[in-house]
Formats: sequence, structure tokens, C-alpha cells
Amino acid sequence: MSIDLLVHGGDVLTMDDASTVVRGGAVAVHEGAVLAVGPAQELRERHTAAEEIDAAGCLVLPGLINTHTHLAMTLLRGRADDVTLQGFLERVLKWEAELLAPRNVAAAVRLAVAESLRAGVTSALDMYWFHEAAEQAAREAGWRLHTGPTFMDVPGPPDGIAYEERLGWARRDLEARGPARPGHRPVVFAHSTYTLSPGQLTEVFALAREFGALVHIHAAENATEVATVEVQHGKRPVELLDSLGLLGPDVLLAHAVDLTGPEIAALARTGTGVAHCPVSNLKLGCGIAPVPRLLSAGVTVGLGTDGAVSSNSLDVLGAVRQAALVHKASGDPTAVGAEQAVRMATIEGARALGLGEQLGSLEAGKRADLIVLDLDAPHLRPRHDPWSTLAYAAHPSDVRDTVVDGRVLMRDRGLTTVDERAVIADLEALL
Ligand SMILES: [Zn+2]
Repeated sequence: MSIDLLVHGGDVLTMDDASTVVRGGAVAVHEGAVLAVGPAQELRERHTAAEEIDAAGCLVLPGLINTHTHLAMTLLRGRADDVTLQGFLERVLKWEAELLAPRNVAAAVRLAVAESLRAGVTSALDMYWFHEAAEQAAREAGWRLHTGPTFMDVPGPPDGIAYEERLGWARRDLEARGPARPGHRPVVFAHSTYTLSPGQLTEVFALAREFGALVHIHAAENATEVATVEVQHGKRPVELLDSLGLLGPDVLLAHAVDLTGPEIAALARTGTGVAHCPVSNLKLGCGIAPVPRLLSAGVTVGLGTDGAVSSNSLDVLGAVRQAALVHKASGDPTAVGAEQAVRMATIEGARALGLGEQLGSLEAGKRADLIVLDLDAPHLRPRHDPWSTLAYAAHPSDVRDTVVDGRVLMRDRGLTTVDERAVIADLEALL
């Protein structure tokens, strides 16, 4: 059979339920989807591919999924370091009001896409202003972006759309989308329980639910946020969402650092997911999310980088490493093992987005988002255990090839759809 792409010869980490590794395996790709995964020799005999990637000596795994970010904040990378979350927000909101326009967002997203492709990140959940510009930039690069309208009731929003007009604007956006493309679903962003009132949250979630959209919201990022929301509404953020009937399997919380036992139980009971952003949480001094407790309660946990102002990079592999390290600070070196952390960046991230049937593992019928990690470097030898290699030793620069929707967007470390020199020059000229 003639197929579009055959990636052959590496050890394929399928990330299926059993975390099956096919040594000397191959992935057959056709029309953007995984057709088969199996022994390389067998698949080479069965298929003639229009394009091949020789992955001998490499690891082949699903593309990494960034479940919480603000891509266009690459624009402000390095401008608000070593400050508290509240100090950070104060500065950033002011700059955003001055700086943001569709053209700047598009330029910053192009940079973020280039950085992500290089780091083996094949899709991201991106909450930001001017999402249409971000979508356009991602589409031009062939990269998978999960985005949609954002709600944040702040004075003078950068896009000039006051809260009162936003519901109508968002409805028109969701209606215009039509049926979701494979590997995508509609998304609505509610910024937080401190920038939206309970009434607004209820309206926004109702709109999202009408369209079967994922709702993504920052919640319980640090103790100050929790105290603020308690003063405003008499309840903690997760408690408030639960009391309003707004938790559910269609909801993904960003951060979820400051949680009580009953709140963890509420997330498990309602099937609400969490995007864990360990680097951002550490850098902003927010604390350490109770991920081992969330996992043992059965909560789906994906990994995010957050924006490049709060974590300075869109390196999901770095989040894997940090997730596998930071929870051990409690004194328990078995907390969040290497394999678990890699699953959080792939299949669990896909599940957190409600796209676990389409993304996150290399299994027949899923979208062909995959990466090839080059092991030909001293820091990756000897090759005892692929999970250990990925979680504790690999760097983004070890990613050699990146495929999104069956299309090779990075081959031998060269980007095929993004002119990164031009992208950098364009962004720097704007600043
Ligand atoms: Zn965020």
C-alpha cells in the first residue's frame, strides 16, 4: 500500500495504556493519521511511503502537548522576572494594553511556534487576546493550536471588546467554526474567578457548554489569589466553581496549586482536569501543586509551560523534568516517576483537553503528531531506559524531527514551514 510517511527504525514509545515500547519499530502515517505502529521490517514490507524518516537509534514518541500557555507572551519574555504573581499581573496587564494588536500577536505566536516545533511540542492550549491572529499564524505553519475566545473583565481590554459585547462576539466565533477539524475541539477561556464574577462565569460556561467546548480557567494559582477570591465571594476558587456547578470533564484548571482535600475530591468527582505548570509555579513562588494527591485521587493531569513571561520558555520537556523532580522535595523519591511525567506531557495532556481519543499516543486512527528524539549525544548514553532519558536527561535540542498532522514541520532540525530568521527579525523590529 502507498502511504504518505513512514517513520522507521527507532524505539517507538506508543504511550498506549500499557506504555508499550516497540523496539526497532515504525509508524505508518497516511492522510494525517497514524495507520499502523509495529516492527519496522514488517511495516516497510507492507508499505511504500512517499516520504520517510530514518529514526534508527532514536526515540519516536507522540508530540508533546502544552496544556497551558499564552504563546504571544514571548513578546515580553524576560521583562517580569523575580516578582510575585500579583506584581507580575500588574506589570503585564499594563504592557499588554500598550503593546497588543493582531499583528504583534501573530508575530509573537510565530516565534512561539518555531520554539515549540524545535522542542517537540506539537500542540498547545493557548489563552490570549486576539486569538484569531494566533490561529492564522499557527495555520500558516501547519501547527496544531487549541484556542478560542477569552473572557477577562478588566478595564480597557487590549482588544477593545468590553465584557458586555464579548458573549455575542464569542458566540459568533464559535458558530463560524462549524464542525471541529480532526484533533481539535472548540475552546472557551474564562480567565479566572478573580477577573470574572460568579454571574459572568455562569454565562461563559453556559455558552461553552452549548457548543461542547472545553473551558479553560486559571484557578488556585497561589495563596494570595485564594484569599482574594475568598474575600470577594466567600469561597475559595475551586469551591466557588463547584458551588456554581461549573466543574466537569469539560473543564481544565490551570495551576491548581492551593487546594484543600475536599477540593481535590471535587475535581475527582466531577472529572475536572488540571494543567500542571511546575516551572511557572516555582518561578513565581506560587508553591508546588499537590500532583501526587491529584493523581492518586484519579484526576487527569497534563503539563503546561504557562506564558514565556512567567516561565521564560515553552519547553514542555523542561516541564516533564521539573514535574518528575519537584514533587520529590517532599522527601518521597517515588513521587511522579519518569514514565508518569512523560505520560502527563503526551496522553494525559490529550485527555486533559478532552482529545484523548485523537491525540497523545501513537495508535492506529489517531492524528499523526509525533517527534523523533536523537540519542546520538554523550548526555543521552548509555541507553538503559527511555523514560529516564526523556524525563531526566533530554533537552529540547535533542528533538530532531517534528511531525504534526502527518506533515513533517521539522526535519533534521530544520523547520520546513517557518522561516525562523525572518520571524525573529520581524518580532524584534516590532519592539
Ligand atoms: Zn496562565
